[in-house]
Amino acid sequence: MESPVGEKGVPACGICGEPAVIFQPADRRYLCGTHLVREVEDLVRATVQENALIRPGDRIAVGLSGGKDSTALLVILSRILPAWPGANLVAITVDEGIAGYRADTIRAAQSLTGRLGVEHRMVSFADIIGQDLDHLLIGREKEACTVCGILRKKALADAARTAGATVVATGHNLDDEAQSVLMNAFRGDLPRLLRTTDARTAADFLPRIKPLAAVPEKEIAAYLFVQGFFTELPECPYTKYALRAEVRTFLSDYESAHPGTMQNLVASKKTIERCCAGAPVMEPLRRCRECGDPCSGDLCQVCRLRHSL
Ligand code: SF4
Ligand code: ZN
Repeated sequence: MESPVGEKGVPACGICGEPAVIFQPADRRYLCGTHLVREVEDLVRATVQENALIRPGDRIAVGLSGGKDSTALLVILSRILPAWPGANLVAITVDEGIAGYRADTIRAAQSLTGRLGVEHRMVSFADIIGQDLDHLLIGREKEACTVCGILRKKALADAARTAGATVVATGHNLDDEAQSVLMNAFRGDLPRLLRTTDARTAADFLPRIKPLAAVPEKEIAAYLFVQGFFTELPECPYTKYALRAEVRTFLSDYESAHPGTMQNLVASKKTIERCCAGAPVMEPLRRCRECGDPCSGDLCQVCRLRHSL
């Protein structure tokens, strides 16, 4: 049942009766700021514990763009980490080289790591491929997010290795995860749908974990806002080319009409993973013949990109 309306006409928190800041449609419940913060942190802690994403002594490289998801990730990990003795954090910000956008987010990342007392490192696309994204994209702007994604993953992994990390954490939230399931299903790409990166099974390269994977995007924004961590930042000028923009709008509308859809999509992926366990669906991982990085073919995506310049 929905919570009653409290004094002054503001809906009341379903737990304590204080004025609510958010409505959770899937649970038909309002929450105040205090209980929202507690619920989000408990959900992340449970995700990490149930999937054994962190181990005592881990050095966790957190991909910190300075945007809301990675900001929330760093704040939450810094609070829950004492449960894993000896574990520590290093934040890594990748500077793609996007004029009019990146400078503000880098400043936000520096201010956050200073506030939390977390070690902060920077790496740029120029370090990885010799040019910034704006220059790489001249004449191929529509490929922006594909090129950016390939290089960001490489930059983050290299910087994490240099920092001595044992695991890389990224701020993907429930909406991102549900969008990915849907996009891969639309493409009919089962191997990619199953390419799970949150299991710590990779033999000889850095595992990637997504501790926010069960938290809706809306709750992450509210989590930051009620604690004064929310900063309005410019939007990347290449967002208009993002392949997932259409799926994001569609799915968010569908979720509003049918609460719980995103959770169901992510749960379906886990069911498919269980059903396909041991089946020869995915290509075995190989090594790139030029750089030695793990990849599914003969050449990794970064080396293929280098050849196309
Ligand atoms: Fe990179 Fe695309 Fe995100 Fe811009 S919108 S930062 S180009 S992935
Ligand atoms: Zn390669």
